Amino acid sequence: MVSQELLDILRCPACVREKDGLLDYYKETWLICQDCSRKYPIREDIPVMLIDEGDKWIQVKAEDLPIPPPG
Ligand SMILES: [Zn+2]
Repeated sequence: MVSQELLDILRCPACVREKDGLLDYYKETWLICQDCSRKYPIREDIPVMLIDEGDKWIQVKAEDLPIPPPG
């Protein structure tokens, strides 16, 4: 589990300077940016908030994301 406190403060690093960059918590294993659709994996309860990582999944639909995330 990722704590609600942490979820509340996390924002998409690619968007946060210009937009809200709010993230949807998806199946407890991904964070999906509402603005750019980058998807950030949560590995061993740690969200990997790297733009390069989010880029890899930008074209993948939420329902097609691997659960759990690879890597
Ligand atoms: Zn974003």
